[in-house]
Amino acid sequence: MLTTLLLLALSAAPAPGQTPSAAEVGAVYPDAYKLYLDLHQHPELSSQETRTAATIAARLRALGYEVTEHVGGTGVVAVMKNGPGPTIMLRTELDALPVEEKTGLPYASTVRTKDPSGADVPVMHACGHDLHMAALVGTATVMAGSKGTWHGTLVLIGQPAEETITGAKAMLADGLLTRFPRPDAGVALHVGNGLPAGKVGVGSGYRYANSDSVRITIYGRGAHGSAPEAGVDPIVIAARTILALQTIVSREVPPGEAAVVTVGYVHAGTKNNIIPDHAELGLTIRTYEPAVRTQVLAAITRIANAESAAGNAPKPPLIDHYESTDALYDAPVLADRLEPVLASALGKDNVVTVPAVMASEDYSYFIEAGVPSFYFSLGGADPQKFAEAKAAGTPLPSNHSPFFAPDAEPALRTAITAEVAVLRNLLQGSAEALRRALGEAK
Ligand SMILES: [Zn+2]
Ligand SMILES: [Zn+2]
Repeated sequence: MLTTLLLLALSAAPAPGQTPSAAEVGAVYPDAYKLYLDLHQHPELSSQETRTAATIAARLRALGYEVTEHVGGTGVVAVMKNGPGPTIMLRTELDALPVEEKTGLPYASTVRTKDPSGADVPVMHACGHDLHMAALVGTATVMAGSKGTWHGTLVLIGQPAEETITGAKAMLADGLLTRFPRPDAGVALHVGNGLPAGKVGVGSGYRYANSDSVRITIYGRGAHGSAPEAGVDPIVIAARTILALQTIVSREVPPGEAAVVTVGYVHAGTKNNIIPDHAELGLTIRTYEPAVRTQVLAAITRIANAESAAGNAPKPPLIDHYESTDALYDAPVLADRLEPVLASALGKDNVVTVPAVMASEDYSYFIEAGVPSFYFSLGGADPQKFAEAKAAGTPLPSNHSPFFAPDAEPALRTAITAEVAVLRNLLQGSAEALRRALGEAK
């Protein structure tokens, strides 16, 4: 009898490293979903996530995590120590976007607020960060309640201001890696409509691109539109510059390397019969390899200067490289180790390999700072709508769209299952063994 009871007790508790059962996830799901609805209806703009951060902090504190708030602005760090072993970080973002929700959902956001310039703007969780937060709290609950299945230190972070590419940097500057246990590895995911809910997308190596924002101001000399000889036309110089910039990727970058140079806006002039005295171009540049990035940025400077000189501009253009993010790189050793873990947790067919994209994400700053990471995609699309959209050839609303509405239930369950499986796998063995595996792979 005693043996039977003991066996029953043992079989009820998941074995070390075991992927979470549907029952384990099911037990935390209703509360995670409630949290999702609450966060969805209370979105906050980047760097203004005070209610959001306080909500997440309170939840994690109640679960027994050691919680520190106001890390790099509104950032939250929650630590749970559970014996010797690796230190693993899981990250969620906290912020929403100035987008007016048009999903028609009963829980759609109607929030409006003031943006940093004082303008009245609508706010919506149009990037799914509310789902990431609900998943992290669900995962935190499972991990806190199953300490026999893992050992080491779990560091959960709520990162502010991802959409403005400032929050990760701010948390690092505020001592994320020095004031708290330093992670041996990091984990993050992002929901999107590129995959149906229930599936995850994995890859290894570069996942997201280096992103550089450049503003070029081309100088001319203003004149009457009827007397071009009296001026220098910056619009003509701008037009030639734009076309010449398109030869960087087609004629200078090796064909096997990836790069994008997009001129996203041209601002010049006020009236049809006035030659203006300047023109402004706004560029976004995407690359993976550091050498290609350097090459493309140098070529932009060279071409912009040369076209202004060719056009007899009174002075060289002002080239302002005002914003940049580094590429996001998935440590291949982690991707190789964790793909089968996800396959056994979610089913082999639910883990698909996805190609790298030219989007950008400031999680890359944590990797830059020395936290090798596993960043994966979470399917968010309603599986039926996904199939219909594919058949019709019309893409579903992307992240940042006012119509972006992930199929929350299966996506949230999948996120919690995947996160717990990955964390339990990484929180095994010794920190040294993990560091060695990651170090040898570099
Ligand atoms: Zn976003
Ligand atoms: Zn996002």
